[in-house]
Amino acid sequence: MSVQEPGPNPYQAVEVTNPEGRGGFVFVCEHASRLIPEEYQDLGLDADQVKSHIAWDPGALAVARKLSEAFDSPLVAGCLSRLLYDCNRPPHAHDAIPMVSEIHTIPGNQNLSFEAKKQRIDGIYIPFQETLEAVVKKATASDRLPLMVTVHSFVPVYKGQKRAVEVGFLHDDDSRFVDAILSVDDGAKFVVERNAPYGPEDGVTHTLRFHALPHQIPNVMIEIRNDLIVTDQQVADMADYLRDVITKAVSYADFRAATPSTGASQ
Ligand SMILES: [Zn+2]
Repeated sequence: MSVQEPGPNPYQAVEVTNPEGRGGFVFVCEHASRLIPEEYQDLGLDADQVKSHIAWDPGALAVARKLSEAFDSPLVAGCLSRLLYDCNRPPHAHDAIPMVSEIHTIPGNQNLSFEAKKQRIDGIYIPFQETLEAVVKKATASDRLPLMVTVHSFVPVYKGQKRAVEVGFLHDDDSRFVDAILSVDDGAKFVVERNAPYGPEDGVTHTLRFHALPHQIPNVMIEIRNDLIVTDQQVADMADYLRDVITKAVSYADFRAATPSTGASQ
């Protein structure tokens, strides 16, 4: 199928909640939305596919919003489906505009012209990155470095394989924040793991690499199994748990003053 690409920047690609928050964090939710504007004709997918996890991270935005509120800090969230453009991927990544997601072929992403790809990049990726960069710049203007937390969700069963991990704390070259979190988490509430169900080798740390590492901002990418954040109560419980473990981690180690360490072993 071929879809008619709309003109330049016709849609809002990114939204900032609580931009004036002074709590010292920057929250990010790249895969917050499953919105595919009408012109794209659902990229040729059926109604179930466009509602499923391949289009977004179900539950992630709700948790991220609660954390943004709890820590009185800005939240930068994507407003369009990652099937149009995955804002946690650089333009050269093979899955930035995925032709296949898990086992699903994305008809509207096959054989895109250079111009069509450029429109997705210019209309979605660039505004997202520029907005996040501006939020990070503002947050780094105070004497203390902010902390970056990105919030995602993953499916319980992937390519037929059941995942035991419930909450993954991911990092790239700078493991300070994750080290502190794993030091204070007693494992009583959720099955937590470092760099699971995937890690930096899978190309999932673009936001951290692009916006945190260059400024030595301590950072963590949180991956939540999406069956644990379906109901409002589950979302509230997960946000409470994360608020608690992050608060403990921050008081456990003053890693904002330390030099970044290179990833601890898994
Ligand atoms: Zn995600």
